[in-house]
Amino acid sequence: DNIIEIRGLEKVYGDGVEVKALDGLDLDVKKGEFLSIVGPSGSGKSTLLHMIGILDTPTKGTILIDGQDVTSMDDQQRSSARNTLLGFIFQYHHLLPDFTALENVMMPLLIAGKKKDEATREAEKLLNEVGLKDRLHHFPGQLSGGQNQRVAVARALVNRPKIVIGDEPTGNLDSRSSDRVYELLRKLNREFDQTFILVTHDENMARKTDRIVRIVDGKITE
Ligand code: ADP
Ligand code: ADP
Repeated sequence: DNIIEIRGLEKVYGDGVEVKALDGLDLDVKKGEFLSIVGPSGSGKSTLLHMIGILDTPTKGTILIDGQDVTSMDDQQRSSARNTLLGFIFQYHHLLPDFTALENVMMPLLIAGKKKDEATREAEKLLNEVGLKDRLHHFPGQLSGGQNQRVAVARALVNRPKIVIGDEPTGNLDSRSSDRVYELLRKLNREFDQTFILVTHDENMARKTDRIVRIVDGKITE
């Protein structure tokens, strides 16, 4: 029961000097799997995440997500697939600076058409779970890097996306907050059968995941 099937994925950057960031990569991900992707800097991890996140298009190969071939979609279909299937936890968390933590987390729910009361309740619940109950009405500029990272985690998860992708989701956090975020992701993974694909340098965290995929020079080695 694969939620993602990747075949012969290639990505070449540049027109002058060409860089082959992904070199014929195959990967199946099962529904509900908690996967970590590790590998040296420049090995193609972020490129792979961008392809799975439908943020960029491959040079060759196919990506099926939930049975749909995302490589043959037009822009509108891609955007709709991103919004309905995927949640993103990236290092540059893109929080809106003029909105409070609570409002930032409510945003995806309001966009999806939920009523304000319900959106408020659900956003508060997630902020509570990431340990920010007493920071609901603070703005990003009044929060630390780690706190903003946790707001971004709450925002990525509040819509209950089927697939959550993260690039170093605990990268800016101290080990205590990092464990807490990992435990939260794990809990959601088990409760809602959400699939997680995380790029990480944290070997400790990688060891706790269901499977570690190692990438070197744009290929899976293990
Ligand atoms: P990682 O995330 O493992 O550090 P990346 O996927 O970021 O690796 O990069 C893989 C290779 O592709 C590297 O050689 C990198 O320099 C190159 N690359 C990544 N993004 C671009 C880009 N936008 N334009 C040109 N080359 C890129
Ligand atoms: P829309 O089409 O709804 O205006 P997008 O399709 O641009 O929005 O984005 C959909 C989702 O993808 C959002 O949750 C957004 O945070 C995420 N996203 C878009 N671009 C990037 C990026 N470069 N890095 C990380 N996440 C991104």
